[in-house]
Amino acid sequence: MLELNALSSSGASLLFNWHYKKKKLTPCRDNLSLATQQFVAENFDFYLPEIIEIQHSFDQTVKLLLRLSDGQKVETVLIPFQNKYTACLSSQVGCAMQCSFCFTGTQGLKRHLSCDEMIGQFLVADRWLIENIGENLKLKNIVFMGQGEPLHNFDAVKKACQIFLDQHGTSIGLQKITVSTAGHLPGLLRWKQEMPRVNLALSLHSSFEHIRNELIPINQRYPLEQVLTLIDDIPLSRKQYVIYEYLLIKNLNDSPLDARGVGELLKEKRAIINLIAFNPFPSSGYERPDNQVIIEFKKILDTYNIPTLIRGTKGDDILAACGQLNTKS
Ligand code: SF4
Repeated sequence: MLELNALSSSGASLLFNWHYKKKKLTPCRDNLSLATQQFVAENFDFYLPEIIEIQHSFDQTVKLLLRLSDGQKVETVLIPFQNKYTACLSSQVGCAMQCSFCFTGTQGLKRHLSCDEMIGQFLVADRWLIENIGENLKLKNIVFMGQGEPLHNFDAVKKACQIFLDQHGTSIGLQKITVSTAGHLPGLLRWKQEMPRVNLALSLHSSFEHIRNELIPINQRYPLEQVLTLIDDIPLSRKQYVIYEYLLIKNLNDSPLDARGVGELLKEKRAIINLIAFNPFPSSGYERPDNQVIIEFKKILDTYNIPTLIRGTKGDDILAACGQLNTKS
């Protein structure tokens, strides 16, 4: 997409400003010399993912099905919160991790997304919001929790984060970007040295290796203990926590014993726990626990003084909730 090194810094700033601040999706002509315009025309690609289907949830969540330049498809989800939206971006077409609770995992990995395809998801989603919901409802948060294991595509995700953070780019704050992982050890090994200090979320789902092995098969290769050792070594800013996602599945990982296991594991850490009830998808063999079970699970975690939130499911009626994305067709 961008060969910015060949441009002067002022030219690059102009282009960033044009596309990310003014949100123009056409080539820039303002204040650029003819030679630079020609350089841009010859070296830049202005293709953006094309929206081919839009689904609306009763709770205002919107799922966009996007076609990429090679015909592959990914989904981007817009999640409302008060007068803002969070963009849930995909990092791969499909996913290689095969988590047993996840619809994406059933479709296998087709390919990584490039940095510009991830930025493109954001720009297209942002434009859609402005045109269809209104100027005032803006994309304020980004989570890499759509299709794909972001750290399996480390370089492109890192570059996308850098552009999202850049003051000439979308200028989204460090605390507003979250990258999720199922526990991809090679990516975590690079995180400390290379990744901007965005938020890290780990799909935990159990403190017990045998249950985690079932839910997240890469746990057999990258055991939780090693994953947590690396995460503990990542420096955090003063107000920053690591987010531990815990998907509650009926009769699998929702017992008081499971809750105490999580409490013991995380009690000394800078941790926030998000409890999420399992979201069923076609052919999923798991069930969602009763609400009372979720409340009891949280009560046990509260005794460990770990900040714990029960996350309400959004967009499950359109298969847009956590673990429900799939573009196999
Ligand atoms: S939960 Fe994430 S890492 Fe696991 S299969 Fe689904 S998309 Fe991949």
